[in-house]
Amino acid sequence: MLRLEHMGIAVKQLSVSVPLFEQLLNTPCYKTEEVASEGVNTAFFRTGESKVELLESTREDGPIGKFIAKKGEGIHHLAFEVEDIEAEMKRLSGLGFELLNAVPKNGADNKLVCFLHPKSTNGVLIELCQEKK
Ligand code: ZN
Repeated sequence: MLRLEHMGIAVKQLSVSVPLFEQLLNTPCYKTEEVASEGVNTAFFRTGESKVELLESTREDGPIGKFIAKKGEGIHHLAFEVEDIEAEMKRLSGLGFELLNAVPKNGADNKLVCFLHPKSTNGVLIELCQEKK
């Protein structure tokens, strides 16, 4: 069973959305971090067992820039925590799920991550994440 680690939400501007989500969730943003390789700035909120991750694009041709141009702001991905990301990638690709990266890559919040193509997951972009040891 995989635990929902966080939900990723694409936003146009963190400067607008961080105060909005602080009001909505009634909790302060506890961390912001740039992931330069992905072209995003992230902001995190604790929401019980899971977190909310806001994603702002730092370049138009990055994944979040493209997503917002196509679909607008909104839910971008669901991230599930795994103990051993390589084993889980192997398990899921063996079941026919399409992985977007063949090897784990560095994500925000000290994580190794891998994304699954939405066309193999009923239209939902799924992130697997493992705490870096
Ligand atoms: Zn994420």
